[in-house]
Amino acid sequence: MLLIAANTAGARTLATRDLQNGPYTCPQCSTDVVLKRGRKVTAHFAHTPGSACQAAGESTRHLLAKQVLAEEFTRLGYQAHIEVVHHAAGRRVDVVAARTDEHGRQRRVAVEIQDSAIQVDTAKKRVVLDRRLGYDATVWLFTTYRAAALFHAKPDAEVRVPNEMLWADHRYGHGVHLIDPDGRAVWRAELSEVYREGESREWYDEDGDPTGVDYPGYVPKTIRTVQLHQAGFRLTSAPGLFGDAWSIVFAAEPEGSTS
Ligand SMILES: [Zn+2]
Repeated sequence: MLLIAANTAGARTLATRDLQNGPYTCPQCSTDVVLKRGRKVTAHFAHTPGSACQAAGESTRHLLAKQVLAEEFTRLGYQAHIEVVHHAAGRRVDVVAARTDEHGRQRRVAVEIQDSAIQVDTAKKRVVLDRRLGYDATVWLFTTYRAAALFHAKPDAEVRVPNEMLWADHRYGHGVHLIDPDGRAVWRAELSEVYREGESREWYDEDGDPTGVDYPGYVPKTIRTVQLHQAGFRLTSAPGLFGDAWSIVFAAEPEGSTS
């Protein structure tokens, strides 16, 4: 499913606008797509069944998340672009947020929304590619469906965290960002490692004197406790990590803000 298709003139066309029935083509694979409008789902374009296009497999939650992000970014004064395709690079960015900084430079952030699992290697490749494509940073947002274990975790409960979320936490150092498309909200999940006590056993030497050998405790690799904090859609930059010009944090809007 797609929010953006190309019309007969090749222009980017948003499904949620009041549109004629087509024809439309997918900007990524160039096959025909059909405009779908319903009461329950957001207006979108659909591929023919069995399409192998990467864009065809996206859920309605994923579409809604993109739409919500673009609307909130626009409200906050960013230029927002949905489903930006870089053909030569084989890259399709979910949402781009752009803004001119105080030095008059155009800054662009690629926002990736994950509603399903992704391999860490794939995520890493996208980040490298985005730098080549001129983005200042790549930000990862996991839907509250994909990250349900984190979103619904009780305080102090131990949760098994998927590898790509551990990676995002390590790489950017700001926890894991979640988006609840239906609630129009962004959350930040702070992860804490869990320490397990090791078993201790007593050993004795030949004379029967204790030489107490303790097995050390350890920290399980994928188990964390979660503290959830409501964030917002404002992008704030921290000094870049690992070659990013920026590291991006979703921040709450200041009290009384009218932006
Ligand atoms: Zn396609």
